[in-house]
Amino acid sequence: MTLNIEAIRKDFPILQTSMRGKPLVYLDTAASAQKPRAVIDAMSDFYRNHYANIHRGVYRLSAEATRRYEATRGRVARFIGAPDEREVIFVRNATEAINLVARSWGEEEIGPGDEIVVTTMEHHANIVPWQMLAEKRGAILRVAAISDEGELDEDDLVRLLGPKTRLLAFTEVSNALGTINPVARLAAIARERGITTLVDGAQAVPHHPVDVAALGCDFYAFSGHKLFGPSGAGVLWGRLPLLDAMPPFLGGGDMIESVSFEGTTFAPVPQKFEAGTPDIASVIGLGAAIDYLDSIGMDRIAEYEHALLLHATDRLREIPGLRIVGTARHKAAVLSFVLDGVHPHDIGTLLDTEGIAIRAGHHCAQPLMKRMGVAATARASLSFYNTREEIDHLAAALRKTREIFC
Ligand code: PLP
Repeated sequence: MTLNIEAIRKDFPILQTSMRGKPLVYLDTAASAQKPRAVIDAMSDFYRNHYANIHRGVYRLSAEATRRYEATRGRVARFIGAPDEREVIFVRNATEAINLVARSWGEEEIGPGDEIVVTTMEHHANIVPWQMLAEKRGAILRVAAISDEGELDEDDLVRLLGPKTRLLAFTEVSNALGTINPVARLAAIARERGITTLVDGAQAVPHHPVDVAALGCDFYAFSGHKLFGPSGAGVLWGRLPLLDAMPPFLGGGDMIESVSFEGTTFAPVPQKFEAGTPDIASVIGLGAAIDYLDSIGMDRIAEYEHALLLHATDRLREIPGLRIVGTARHKAAVLSFVLDGVHPHDIGTLLDTEGIAIRAGHHCAQPLMKRMGVAATARASLSFYNTREEIDHLAAALRKTREIFC
């Protein structure tokens, strides 16, 4: 199974551009993915030819916009293996999806002395909402350890799951290390103990096929902008009985059944959680992104990226003074590294002069950086539009960086 990378790269207009007089080498897909023409065109077509508000107009344009928006819900459901499309809630991003659960499910279900378990490798988006909830409700946040390689310590995690644990919230793929966690196994362990699970899938959906039903978790969150869609549309998936029982997160238009000054009744899911006018065009764009990915095949993407990761790991390991941070056995195509004597920000700045875009910093994972014994790392995150030649260019630029600084 090979991908026609040359053709794929032509689908992404920005990859044809130059930065600082050099062809752009975009290695920051974990922060946000570039957009294929199919997405850009779908959004432009929607604004030019089909735009109206949804769920309220009796006129044809509004009915058509509603149809397109709702059809995307079905597309997302199929893409992530959701048994029922009503389980797909459109939000702005993974952060909002997790906050929705923390506020709506959490404030009902978590009480004083209850425990929430997360892991050391979480993005701040899967830490801070639980800290805020714990503070508000008098609950306790417990943190499962990871190894020096950046793998989850499953024994420690199981040890933390006690009679008071109500929620296990963990990432499928670490944004800073690339570690892939065994979601199905962890969800099964939690289920046996009656513990609800939330999976942060922000870095998983862009890299490999995801089937929420097979994973067996209760909630799954991701952002459309990391999935080659526009910023402004993300997804919370949740099991229907859980969503049905949860109170709304935001109140307002479009989420009600009837309103009077004596009281309000709410619409069923998913509308109950989609108050106000959503980012309609971004949802349409997300649908186009999913169609585009389906046309390539997530299996093929995963296979190609894995080969690219192995190549990049080999090239980077050859560089004197470079240390890869995060060497789990199961990894997505993310490479965090430090270079002796060079601050990650300086690496980022120097690579920029070569037209190479990488991320440098704590990657919104400060507790993880502390655990790995670094203040920050440089991170190259790869995708199916990257090539071996780009990796070789990165390696050459890193050698040059080292020569300049050391
Ligand atoms: N979770 C992980 C693992 C991430 O990498 C990110 C973003 O980098 C998020 C959550 C938050 O995503 P967003 O900023 O789109 O809400």
